[in-house]
Formats: sequence, C-alpha cells, structure tokens
Amino acid sequence: MASWWEKALNSGYYEKRGFVSEYPSAAGFVPAHSNNFTKMSRSASDITLIVIHITGGDTAGSAINTFAAEDNPNHTSAHYIVGRTGKIYQTVWEKDRAHHAGSANRRSIGIEHVADNRTNYPTQEQYNASAALVLYLCRKYSIPADREHIMGHQEVITTSHNCPGPYWDWAEYMRTISIVRTLINLGPLLPLLP
Ligand SMILES: [Zn+2]
Repeated sequence: MASWWEKALNSGYYEKRGFVSEYPSAAGFVPAHSNNFTKMSRSASDITLIVIHITGGDTAGSAINTFAAEDNPNHTSAHYIVGRTGKIYQTVWEKDRAHHAGSANRRSIGIEHVADNRTNYPTQEQYNASAALVLYLCRKYSIPADREHIMGHQEVITTSHNCPGPYWDWAEYMRTISIVRTLINLGPLLPLLP
C-alpha cells in the first residue's frame, strides 16, 4: 500500500508545485512542514559543512512523516534522507535551514540515513548513494570532501542520541567517497575503457 506521500509524489502533486529535488539522482522532494525548518536565503558561501545522521527508525517514510508533520514536537528536519536501498528524498531546500544539529544548522546541510544502532546498521547501498550525494554537495558549495567538513551529528554538537553512532563505518564511508569521486572524474573516459 502506497503511503500518502508516495501517492502524492507519484501523482506529480509536489512536482506541479515546484518541489523538484535539487539533487538530480533523488527519487523526489516531499516538503517538510514549515514548522520544522527555517526559511533562509543562504548563499553558496554560507554552506561549509555536511552533517551525517541516522534516523533511528525503520523506513524513509517514518522520517518523511516526522518532517512533514505540523505537530512534530521537536520541529526536526534534514535536507535529505537516504533510504536503506540508497533511495534519496529531499525534504528541505538547501538554501533553507533544516533543524538537525543545533548551532551547526546555520552553516550545514543535514543528511539522514535510515538506520539504527540495534539491528538496522547502515548498508553499503546507503554509503554508495550517500557518497554520491555528498560529492554533489561538496562540488556545488566548494566544500572539501574530508572529515573536517563531513562530520557526524555527535561530532558537531552534544546530542542525547548516538548519531550516527558506533555502527557508522567512517573508514568505509570515506573510502566509498574516494572511489565514487574517482568514478565521477573518470566518467567521460569510461566508455573508452575495454
Ligand atoms: Zn542526528
């Protein structure tokens, strides 16, 4: 059964209203409720940090529901959500301030990953898709793709939840970023390879 937001997405409801993801490989844009982010006009130079999160939930849908809810008690949101198979949804415009990392919100883009620290550990498909998204953002905002500029929630601000926690494999994630970057750079040459 398709959820309310899948139905809206599939029927083109959001697209007709101008909600088309800025990231070309995203599955769609399902807007967060205006209670859950701050409208801004950040310019490219205002954005200097990527913050990595895990949702603690099971599905992209539960994060989308939380961000879209008018009565979300914590008024939380993130710019992007990466599902367990690597499907990506945008929920907040990059120029706006999503509510995901306290005082770091002002200068950052927040990326949620559907995973937890119990059984749903981050998947390789998520690392792959997230790496491509992060490289797109780093290029767009002239952010170096390194650990000074790609940080975990709990590294930028004290947080009560373990985010992204011990099962987020930073070595593997950064290795994936470097492989994807090589592939992107090789892109024009790939058809010429045997
Ligand atoms: Zn977090």
